[in-house]
Amino acid sequence: MVSFEPTRAAGQARWSKFLPSAGGYADNRNYVRQGHENVAQISPWLQKRMLLESEVVASLRDQWTFPAIEKLVQEVYWRTYWKGWLEHRPEAWTRWREAVPRLRDTLGHEKRSAWEAACAGRTGISGFDDWSQELVTTGYLHNHARMWFASIWIFTLRLPWELGAAFFYEHLLDGDAASNTLSWRWVAGLQTAGKTYLARADNIAKYTEGRCVPSPGQLAGIALSITEDPLPKAGAWIEDSLWSTPETLPGTGERVGLWLHAEDLVVEKGDLAGTKYTAVNAAWPTRLAAQAGWGEVVEKWTRSAIGDGASRAETHYGVEVERGAREDLPAELLAWARKQNLHSVEAYRPFIGPWLDEGLAIERALGAAGITMKWRRRSWDSELLPHAERGYFPFWERVKRGL
Ligand SMILES: Cc1cc2nc3c(=O)[nH]c(=O)nc-3n(C[C@H](O)[C@H](O)[C@H](O)COP(=O)(O)OP(=O)(O)OC[C@H]3O[C@@H](n4cnc5c(N)ncnc54)[C@H](O)[C@@H]3O)c2cc1C
Repeated sequence: MVSFEPTRAAGQARWSKFLPSAGGYADNRNYVRQGHENVAQISPWLQKRMLLESEVVASLRDQWTFPAIEKLVQEVYWRTYWKGWLEHRPEAWTRWREAVPRLRDTLGHEKRSAWEAACAGRTGISGFDDWSQELVTTGYLHNHARMWFASIWIFTLRLPWELGAAFFYEHLLDGDAASNTLSWRWVAGLQTAGKTYLARADNIAKYTEGRCVPSPGQLAGIALSITEDPLPKAGAWIEDSLWSTPETLPGTGERVGLWLHAEDLVVEKGDLAGTKYTAVNAAWPTRLAAQAGWGEVVEKWTRSAIGDGASRAETHYGVEVERGAREDLPAELLAWARKQNLHSVEAYRPFIGPWLDEGLAIERALGAAGITMKWRRRSWDSELLPHAERGYFPFWERVKRGL
């Protein structure tokens, strides 16, 4: 059974194991096989940045010719693209967050039974029930299974896509505000106007190599049309100084702390690695965890992942790392900054999602006490995210020119 240990070492080991077979990815990746050895299975580590996209792409470029690994590289950049797209249109996230509890509370009797059956893997649809159970048991699903699952959820079971995205977000170890929300929107036909993804019985039978064969009549033959009000584009966000503060080296005697959070857990590599921090705070925010919509397994995995990042940060910077669980993280960061006599706190700015909400609350708490929050971005993000405002292919063409 697929398993994921929440350490960078385990992510590196998984990637090293897959790398020698990466050249076969393009031909094999659509098959959903037991064990999933035809795909990398590195998404939980990439999502928490326990493995960096830049490391994965660099090792592929190192060991393979570009044509052999172009498809896989393209998939890694899909993650970056979705991140950037959501930064340009954050309302896609806030609308989804607002819709989930409302839809859950107002499901009628029949829909509620269908929703419960879908989450428990009791619909009787071949494949769908297995994927539902696999997701809950392992915290992972193959990409093709995610696409089929989402399509059947929306078009066959006629359940709101928002509740499907919430089910995934609750159980996926790689659960990501951008990749998850926007992929569900893509299947539903909201990302690319008029383009839906309809799962077909023959496609499922082919790519599961006959293990799952829904009878054709069991699946919807047409996709219902879902519409929404256009999403506003965030204005001039690239120039927003809050989005990315340029690097300023601390002045002599300036005491700077680092906030470590679950959206970037390899601070010892890259843009923040050379800064001298007075102290690091990697406290676990219990209120955020209770409100984020994560299941128990995801919560535990995320907390352990932060613990792993904290240990590496401690060794790298040689300073004290705060690790306790705290209900009110902004209050905790403020008390810690005062105790450590900090002039400012730095952090990689979290992407749109729950960690950014927490980060902005921390910024307000520190600011009210005259302590500056300095947001930083990895150069990977500041170079690429601004170009993710339209479709993937213009974005990819631009990326390719730089590879
Ligand atoms: C409905 C739906 C929901 C999804 N939710 C998430 C999510 O919450 N988090 C998440 O990381 N991915 C999500 N994906 C994308 C994709 O399914 C997973 O990234 C991939 O299956 C992870 O497995 P892997 O590491 O074996 O991927 P591989 O196929 O080996 O690809 C390597 C890496 O590239 C990236 N990648 C590959 N495909 C995609 C893609 N379509 N979109 C974005 N990044 C991609 C991932 O980081 C992945 O780890 C979703 C896809 C769908 C259709």
